[in-house]
Amino acid sequence: MNTHKLQKANILIVDNQIDSLKLLSKILEEQDYQVRQAIDGEMALIAVNTEIPDLIILGINLDKVDGYQVCEKIKKQEKMSDIPIIFLSNFDDYGQKIKALQMGAIDYIIKPYQQKEFLARVNNQINLSLKTQQLKETNHNLEQKLKLIEVSQQFNQKIPLESYLLYEAIAATNNSIVITDATASDYPIIYVNPGFETMTGYSLEEVTGKNCRFLQESDRQQPQLEEIRHCLQQGQPCHVTLRNYRKDGSLFWNEMSLSPIKDESGKIIYYLAVQTDVTDKKRANKEQQRYEASLQKMNRELHELNRKLYRLANMDGLTEVANRRCFDETLEQEWRRLSREKKPLSLILGDIDYFKRYNDNYGHLGGDDCLKKVAATIAKAALRPADLVARYGGEEFAVILPDTPYEGAKQVAQRILESLRRLRIPHQVSDVQPYVTMSLGVGTINPSLETKATCFVDQVDEALFEAKKQGRDRFKGVDKQTS
Ligand code: GH3
Ligand code: MG
Ligand code: MG
Repeated sequence: MNTHKLQKANILIVDNQIDSLKLLSKILEEQDYQVRQAIDGEMALIAVNTEIPDLIILGINLDKVDGYQVCEKIKKQEKMSDIPIIFLSNFDDYGQKIKALQMGAIDYIIKPYQQKEFLARVNNQINLSLKTQQLKETNHNLEQKLKLIEVSQQFNQKIPLESYLLYEAIAATNNSIVITDATASDYPIIYVNPGFETMTGYSLEEVTGKNCRFLQESDRQQPQLEEIRHCLQQGQPCHVTLRNYRKDGSLFWNEMSLSPIKDESGKIIYYLAVQTDVTDKKRANKEQQRYEASLQKMNRELHELNRKLYRLANMDGLTEVANRRCFDETLEQEWRRLSREKKPLSLILGDIDYFKRYNDNYGHLGGDDCLKKVAATIAKAALRPADLVARYGGEEFAVILPDTPYEGAKQVAQRILESLRRLRIPHQVSDVQPYVTMSLGVGTINPSLETKATCFVDQVDEALFEAKKQGRDRFKGVDKQTS
């Protein structure tokens, strides 16, 4: 026990007289003891069970449960039976004193007491108690050393007592080390190191002679156990991670390397298991997995949101084809790309014939409905994935046809006109047909970075104007390809 522990020894004072309780606490706290107080027997027992004190100063006349009963209950519990108890009495009663000492009290102080004498008695008992604990620990360590030396001498007679060093290493490691006897039936444990005791809560004495399976309690459906059985049968080493349970019943993950140890003739005489508690690692992995899963979910949601935003930013709300912004951007992009790749770009600009009259005749909502139908028809006529159909203006549409020569563009234009005619959207006030028609301008060019895309658009627009001029419901083309 170190001096720090000495100074901070934990003392429980139990007295039903508040003034006395306060005074005793003050005296002891001044000596740098850590003091807890209890006003009756019940509280005292709760305090002892919560944290085992190094010393109890116990009044005899207590409410609920008297001092003798408290003492009796404490002495009955194995882990508490060694707590030194000093009785505190109001009377110098010989009978009481004898009774207290017989019950296992270590001292008996009568009020009023001399402060110095009281402190001397307390200090004596604390020192004694700490020394006893020290002795117990030393004893336990010695027992472990002896056990290991015994075992290591069995392994190999040549290992001298310097195996003490080996012991130090084994004792110092946080890993748990277990040695089982492979020559006895059911592989009984013959040694565990302090690491095992810390990891599982079981002591060497408790586990000696047992098979390791008690660590799994009833949780026996673990495929790794089959793996261990197989390795034992084959006499091979194995490395597994198991669910094990500590003495207090709590689960931990035990990563274990099991190795056979053979004698000179090659017969397996021991198994050596080195075990590590990987519960934290497992938990960290789980946390990581959970974190990654939520990150993936967030990414998916973000992706979906981006897609929606992209659609909103690039789609025309009424007709659901691309909007003018998207048309301008795509045209610029394709212009640059096709300039580099030296491929043709075709563009169709379309304008519904006599649409003002259509609106006037069928109403604005009727006009909107017509625009939707026309847009869908044009969209169906542009077949390639790279083609882009856009609403260019009010009743004007545009189709960008990348890498498409003039002949191909004319075919698309023709398809648009024909499918619109087939649709036969009634238009009683049109001068061309009794149904909705369009006029188209078609153009093809080899884009170059020296010329502007907008100039080309103007040229196609002129072709559209020409189609209008020549009677509508037709297309006019302009082939600007140089080769
Ligand atoms: P042209 O044959 O020469 O093209 O004659 P037009 O009447 O189609 O051409 P003009 O440009 O004079 O009229 C276009 C009309 O399109 C004006 C407007 O009433 C209509 N329009 C434009 N945008 C929309 C819209 O979003 N919804 C509706 N319903 N009508 C629109
Ligand atoms: Mg127009
Ligand atoms: Mg028009």
